[in-house]
Amino acid sequence: MVRRTHYCRRCGAAIDPGDVYSAVDVLDAEGRLRELLCRECGTDLRAFVAGGDGERETDPE
Ligand SMILES: [Zn+2]
Repeated sequence: MVRRTHYCRRCGAAIDPGDVYSAVDVLDAEGRLRELLCRECGTDLRAFVAGGDGERETDPE
């Protein structure tokens, strides 16, 4: 849960405390990177990571 307003890393949408959001935790050569995404971008990213084309509706499962 965020305690103050953050902004989606991808589209810039405001994420207010209490909103549903996606947290992305990435580890790369530079170290740990933590970003917040809005729910919509999180869904897109999930589809991308899963190998989908990102255009389809994702299955609720
Ligand atoms: Zn977004």
